Parts: sequence; C-alpha cells; structure tokens
Amino acid sequence: MKNSATDWVVAYIGLGSNLANPVEQIQAARTAITQITGVQELAFSSLYCSAPMGPQDQPDYVNAVIGIKTDLPPIDLLRCLQRIENDQGRVRKSERWGARTLDLDILIYGDQMIELPDLTVPHVGIAERAFVLYPLYEIAPQLQVPGKGAIADLLEQCPMSGLKRL
Ligand code: ATP
Ligand code: MG
Ligand code: MG
Repeated sequence: MKNSATDWVVAYIGLGSNLANPVEQIQAARTAITQITGVQELAFSSLYCSAPMGPQDQPDYVNAVIGIKTDLPPIDLLRCLQRIENDQGRVRKSERWGARTLDLDILIYGDQMIELPDLTVPHVGIAERAFVLYPLYEIAPQLQVPGKGAIADLLEQCPMSGLKRL
C-alpha cells in the first residue's frame, strides 16, 4: 500500500560494487534509482574506495550514498533496489559479503526503526562501517540515526580504516 500523497520520507541508500567496472556500476545504479517512480534524488556523495569486508580474496569496493525523497513504503523500496541489483548482474551466492556487481542497502528511512524478516532499518552495519558513515556524513552532517544518535558522534568512534575518497 502506498503512503498518502503528503507522506514523502527522506531515506538514504548505500551503494557498493567491486566487479565489472565498479564506478560505472555505481553511476548506472544512481540513474536507475532516480528513475524509480516515487523516488527523487536529494543528494549524492563522492565516490569512496574501501577494502573488502569479510573474504579478503576479492577486489576493493567503490562505495557511495544517495539521499532520496520517496513516497514508497520501505519494503517496496527494497524490492525496487533488489530489482536494480539483479538488472546489473548481481549473482547471489551462499558466501556472505562476497564480490558483487552491486549492493544497494537501505541505511535510513525517515525516523523509522523497522524490524521485518527481510528488512532491518537503520541498516545493521551503519554505526561500524566507515564506507557507509563517511559518505553519509558528507551529504547529511546533521543526521540523527534512529536508535543510535548523531552521525557526527558515530563518525568520531569509527576510524577511516583505509577508506579513500576517489
Ligand atoms: P549487509 O546487509 O551486511 O551489508 P549484504 O548487503 O551483502 O550484507 P545482501 O546479500 O545484499 O547482504 O542482502 C541480504 C538480505 O538482507 C536481503 O535479502 C535483504 O532482505 C536483507 N536486508 C535486511 N535489511 C536490509 C536493508 N536495510 N537494506 C537492504 N537489504 C536488507
Ligand atoms: Mg551490504
Ligand atoms: Mg545488501
């Protein structure tokens, strides 16, 4: 079910890629996200380069964060993002955090805290992952992360761990 016409929510999505020309994957994903009906781009961070999480025998990642305004309910937004991942050749394997052409994670959806079987928001890794916090802070320095506090405070506790701005 759709939110009412006045219910536009500001949300943030983390983008990551480490296969098949990551910079192009991120740019294509940005275009695809802004073409979703019910989504408008508000801000897009710089691109960052980060070492892989989990299995180390994979290329470095390119990461970014997009800020959007949306009237899609969170689960509908997730389904649209998963379709974009699939369209860009994401192959789901059993290995956790393996290499992928595209990962799109909902980081924040307004001030909501969501616990559904398929969707946890704020994203579980938000407070510990430099490749999420630094680009997010770049476009939303005043952000309050629901249940976790001010992004500036989270950032202070999170070393850059080799994260580089491209
Ligand atoms: P991580 O979530 O730790 O970054 P990942 O992004 O590699 O790992 P995926 O394989 O992309 O994990 O997604 C696994 C599942 O996570 C998806 O099936 C999806 O339903 C679920 N999920 C839960 N919360 C979220 C969220 N906030 N954004 C995107 N997917 C989520
Ligand atoms: Mg992820
Ligand atoms: Mg994901």
